[in-house]
Amino acid sequence: MKDARELLSSGTGPKAMSFDGSTGGPSTQEILAALAFVQHGLGRELLEALWWPESGARRREQLRQEVIALVAPEFTRQMHALADARTSFGIAKASIGWGGGQTTDMQRRELRRTEQALDDARAAAWPNNTMEQLGVLASAVIAEMAGCCDCSGCEGKRVVQDPAVAGAVNCPRCGGSGYEPFSGRKRGTSIGADCSAYSRFWRPVYEWMLANFRQAESRAAVEFNKALSKAA
Ligand SMILES: [Zn+2]
Repeated sequence: MKDARELLSSGTGPKAMSFDGSTGGPSTQEILAALAFVQHGLGRELLEALWWPESGARRREQLRQEVIALVAPEFTRQMHALADARTSFGIAKASIGWGGGQTTDMQRRELRRTEQALDDARAAAWPNNTMEQLGVLASAVIAEMAGCCDCSGCEGKRVVQDPAVAGAVNCPRCGGSGYEPFSGRKRGTSIGADCSAYSRFWRPVYEWMLANFRQAESRAAVEFNKALSKAA
């Protein structure tokens, strides 16, 4: 897959324009034609931003819209889940001794259950100012995608052999992404937070975005590769 991406990168650079097809690979026109077959969306915007920066720079607005379209619904869903959990906990609290009645075991259990659910929803929710920070987060995530190397635990293979189960398991170091994760300190610096603020508040949204960006980009790369091999 790296090859298709590298073709995109080498085939669209300033040099490629004057060396059309001379290396025996697909010409710049063929590369651009194949790219046109890749479905519009976040994946294609990322593919261009990462491997064809000149085009990526022209398409900043499209990329921004795709990032918002990915993140905003999940953020809204979390806020709703949190509000629902808070409402349920409030109801459970109010129900205890409502109108001077006796407190029942069922009411106590419901109070404990809703309190736990509220704690869980709070723990899972991204920071309140996630949307304000979205531009910074997206840039940092894209910079990690552009600058990362193969994972040293699995050498980019995503899996490692585990003698305990006599087979391959997801690499624990990279979580099966195949890429060496940036340190919390490095990620924190790139979003203007220190390491502990990154770990306490930003890590869930950062990792969610990174995983989703990678998935979208690799889907687009597969489509691009297919279109390219059809053209060849
Ligand atoms: Zn790994």
